[in-house]
Amino acid sequence: MGPPKFEIISGATLGEPNLYAIATNEHRVLLDAGQDYAGPADACFLSHAHLDHAIDVEKILKKIPALMSRNTKDYLQQSGIQSDTASLFKFHTTYEFGDISVTPLPSGHLAGAAMFFIEAHEKTILYTADFCLHELEGVEPIQYPQTDVDLLVCESSLSNLRIEENDLTINLEKLKKLTEEEGPTLIICRRMGDLSRVETVAPHFLKHENCDGLLRHSDAIDYLKTPSQIVVAGNLAPSSASSDLAYRMLSNPNAKIILINGVQRAKDGIKLMKFARRSRIKWGPYAGRLRAHVFGISLRNHPTREEVVDFTKSLSPKKVAIVHGPDSGRYAIAKQLSRLGFDSVVPSSGDII
Ligand SMILES: [Zn+2]
Ligand SMILES: [Zn+2]
Repeated sequence: MGPPKFEIISGATLGEPNLYAIATNEHRVLLDAGQDYAGPADACFLSHAHLDHAIDVEKILKKIPALMSRNTKDYLQQSGIQSDTASLFKFHTTYEFGDISVTPLPSGHLAGAAMFFIEAHEKTILYTADFCLHELEGVEPIQYPQTDVDLLVCESSLSNLRIEENDLTINLEKLKKLTEEEGPTLIICRRMGDLSRVETVAPHFLKHENCDGLLRHSDAIDYLKTPSQIVVAGNLAPSSASSDLAYRMLSNPNAKIILINGVQRAKDGIKLMKFARRSRIKWGPYAGRLRAHVFGISLRNHPTREEVVDFTKSLSPKKVAIVHGPDSGRYAIAKQLSRLGFDSVVPSSGDII
């Protein structure tokens, strides 16, 4: 029989797609679908709809059942990812696959986002996926297991940000101030989760939920002609509607372009953030001076480094594996946890715990 194995197939380091599995001699259950999986497995549980966790669920669904929350299924449909044949799971309900049982619990990261409590051969494992310890508008707060956890597999996406860059209240306040100033303002955020949070600060802004998806439609062309105060969901990819809107503003010294969360860390987001004012830039079809003001704002829905440490202390697992974070941040957390007496590891993708 032997103890169950937690497989880190991909996702140890930030930037890698997330795919993990819990396996016994007879069964294997996949956790997340950030990439396809060729081996045998009974089922796949999706933690949430962000693409680094979900993009290959279409491929996986052709082979095995996939289970997800209602919200996750809706978000995927909106992003054009086929998940019609996926089954829905309920939070706090235990699903059994032979000698492995999986219980989804709310993770507080995004509407319908889950962490998974796993039991097999009297061992317990908590895979957090992405989680958030403070409450977010419209998101069910985190509920983690009250029973003993043998192995905690914990995300650490934000473990490298400084705390002040990371303070949600300050950043929301900053965003609110920017939206109250004069001048055309474009806010670009991701469709899933971020849009509804930005709306609470900028209710008077025009909103376009499916900006990039509508590029080919004639109504979008009209819409793109006169941006003034507008919040769009997009990813700033080359020749997308969101980048098209941004191009229109680059030469306007009164304009503000605000990139929220992942958009500022996307390739073209980083580029745009980096261009100094008045320098000559080449960005997409635009060549000239960047006169608009570009801001990046983090509205975090992940734990800070300190929160990961506190979270681990409160669960008091026998072993903790720090995944889905920048390596330097992961090592820093593991060091702190080791000092506190925890058996902590910083795995690589391909490792089995
Ligand atoms: Zn996420
Ligand atoms: Zn993630």
